[in-house]
Amino acid sequence: MATQQGAITRATFDEVILPIFAPAEFIPVKGKGSRVWDQQGKEYVDFAGGIAVTALGHCHPALVEALKTQGETLWHISNVFTNEPALRLARKLIDATFAERVVFMNSGTEANETAFKLARYYASTRHSPNKTKIIAFHNAFHGRSLFTVTVGGQPKYSDGFGPKPADIVHVPYNDLHAVKAVMDDHTCAVVVEPIQGEGGVTAATPEFLQGLRDLCDEHNALLVFDEVQCGMGRSGDLFAYMHYGVTPDILTSAKALGGGFPVSAMLTTQEIASVFHPGSHGSTYGGNPLACAVAGVAFDIINTPEVLNGVNEKRELFVKHLQDINAKYDLFSEIRGMGLLIGAELKPQYKGRARDFLYASADEGLMVLNAGPDVMRFAPSLIIEENDIEEGMLRFAKAVAKVINA
Ligand SMILES: *Cc1c(COP(=O)(O)O)cnc(C)c1O
Repeated sequence: MATQQGAITRATFDEVILPIFAPAEFIPVKGKGSRVWDQQGKEYVDFAGGIAVTALGHCHPALVEALKTQGETLWHISNVFTNEPALRLARKLIDATFAERVVFMNSGTEANETAFKLARYYASTRHSPNKTKIIAFHNAFHGRSLFTVTVGGQPKYSDGFGPKPADIVHVPYNDLHAVKAVMDDHTCAVVVEPIQGEGGVTAATPEFLQGLRDLCDEHNALLVFDEVQCGMGRSGDLFAYMHYGVTPDILTSAKALGGGFPVSAMLTTQEIASVFHPGSHGSTYGGNPLACAVAGVAFDIINTPEVLNGVNEKRELFVKHLQDINAKYDLFSEIRGMGLLIGAELKPQYKGRARDFLYASADEGLMVLNAGPDVMRFAPSLIIEENDIEEGMLRFAKAVAKVINA
């Protein structure tokens, strides 16, 4: 039976939506900067950023303006035609990175799907049809289509959907010896997150990424960086590969790219892109003018020294607060990650309880994330204000005390 018309509550969710999510009990209705309000008017500090998406906070005036202006101009035209906002955004991405060609999609999954299909296609076109092996890593996350979820490789996400795409192997992250053991001339690509997000906020070591680059060069394989979560300023550089000084052949971006408007991109070189031709791949919405107009403005704001340098200053403040909380409550065994992608691993006695801290935080008026059952994750707006950080941390400390003393 339907809920009474007009009364939209959390109970409505269970009546109308597939049970693939377990959303919080409250329903956010409004956001401004790093604060969010729910149906009852309760206010939250946002340390979650819509899972590393709202990099400029909620309703940033410049993004609102871009959306309004484009919304009164041209929404959608399909890829039967091209459009100015997409071409402008592609030019910006190319000017700022290693890339020479860009394609737009709508989600991280689709950008990765494009990347993996391109890597296979490139290998079979330029080398051999047997060059199909993809090497990926334990605890990786690359999306939810059957190909990307298989490359991600976590059984909890991929089991039950078989038969899975073949010739994908997984080895431990940050373990170059393990990669060497499976690397061969049949390998078409190595796929890696420079900072694993969902898998627990773990940054690659510089030697690991450089080693992958060398192995790929040695075996004519493509190095694919999934920067869906760690890119677009989150690491303190525009893309995390810039921090490491290791250049991939293919890079994917999404999440923060549109600041909350769904859009993703796959970046590569002219040589690799050139194996594709009209019809090789496609998308109805990819590169939609609305999405690209918003992303273009988000890009111009994020790719400035003020914002990028601010990321590392804000990180210091976050880490200092987390250390203070840790000194008082002895909660974390490690605080890690890079820039404003921060992971705090729970000590053995609190293992498996990340969600308890998350729910307690929501009660106190704070949105935080977990990354698996043992790691608290913070992925706030890149321009979150100091007073929001202070207030959010006060609330987090209260939540921690409640969980520990319960
Ligand atoms: C979120 C994420 C994806 C999937 O992006 P969607 O937009 O949810 O499809 C892929 N890779 C990484 C590293 C991610 O964090």
